[in-house]
Amino acid sequence: MTRYVSGLVVRETGGPAAVEELRLPEIGPGQVRVRVRAAGVCHSDLSMINGTLRPPHPLVLGHEAAGEVVEVGEHVTRAAVGDHVVLNWQPPCRGCWFCEHGQPWLCSTSSGVAALENGMTLDGAPVHVCLGLGAFAEQVVAPENAVIAVPRELDFEVAALLGCAVLTGSGAVRNTASVRAGESVLVIGLGGVGLSVVAAARAAGAAQVIAVDVTEAKKGLAEAAGATDFVVSSDTLSKDVRARTEGRGADHAIECVGRASTIRAAWRATRRGGQVTVVGMGAADDLVQLAALDIFSSARTLRASVYGQADPDVAVPALARDVLDGKLSLDHLITDRIGLAGVPAAFERMARGEGARSVVRL
Ligand SMILES: [Zn+2]
Ligand SMILES: [Zn+2]
Repeated sequence: MTRYVSGLVVRETGGPAAVEELRLPEIGPGQVRVRVRAAGVCHSDLSMINGTLRPPHPLVLGHEAAGEVVEVGEHVTRAAVGDHVVLNWQPPCRGCWFCEHGQPWLCSTSSGVAALENGMTLDGAPVHVCLGLGAFAEQVVAPENAVIAVPRELDFEVAALLGCAVLTGSGAVRNTASVRAGESVLVIGLGGVGLSVVAAARAAGAAQVIAVDVTEAKKGLAEAAGATDFVVSSDTLSKDVRARTEGRGADHAIECVGRASTIRAAWRATRRGGQVTVVGMGAADDLVQLAALDIFSSARTLRASVYGQADPDVAVPALARDVLDGKLSLDHLITDRIGLAGVPAAFERMARGEGARSVVRL
């Protein structure tokens, strides 16, 4: 049976994103078909069209999503029709060296695939789907290991955020930085990921969470997420942070922008022996300069956190339980609820630094 769905497609780099009619492939063995119910607009989607990343086109955008399984292929064991699921844009293969050595977030089979063809077509020609999903569409076809079942009582909009921003942000705090009670945490960049970092840092018992963004506009959101301090970024950021941390600098800096300048700022605002965690995904030609003497004498640690350095099959259900138990509140993260056609305007808000997450409701 031929099925057509609406999806948000970009036909060329930098080109406009428009709602188009896509033809879904028949599902094969080991695949599932998911009716997408909510999908968050993530900065990585914007990076796919603004030239930061250079995926192939035409491209169906979207990767942070949740929905309901409506069909399962042969041999599918981990999902059933009717399951509510979070989509995982980097499903671990469980067979490569990294998966077998406890680092599924670095899976060599699924890492680094910006877009692939999965049988979806536009005007009879194949399209690529963003991060193996292309979730800004009414339905997606995905391998069964790309869906993670969550309790039915979890709201789809909140569930969608668990699949990227919240897993990434909370994992950076818990798994990469290992923030401990009483520590100070500087958070640079307050999009969906940065605000998730703020919330997770407070939940981890951080005594001080200094939130930084380019304008005052994010102050209210930062405070709602649990920030104790808010600073507008400037050339004097490291001095401002030192003034708030007894002259030392922060124990942790978590960079959620992905730019050399903000990674440098994070480095400079961290105390001697402190940790810098880079969460933002930057461009290949944006070089970070650090003096050799500074690396030695500052004794700081610089680490990257990929997809929250977590096993999504374990972490997503745990986050879902935290939300349902009231331990993790994500309502403040959703500032705009839109339709597919509203995504380009959401990109513009994101580029202007307004709001937190826009969520597409389908
Ligand atoms: Zn994302
Ligand atoms: Zn693997």
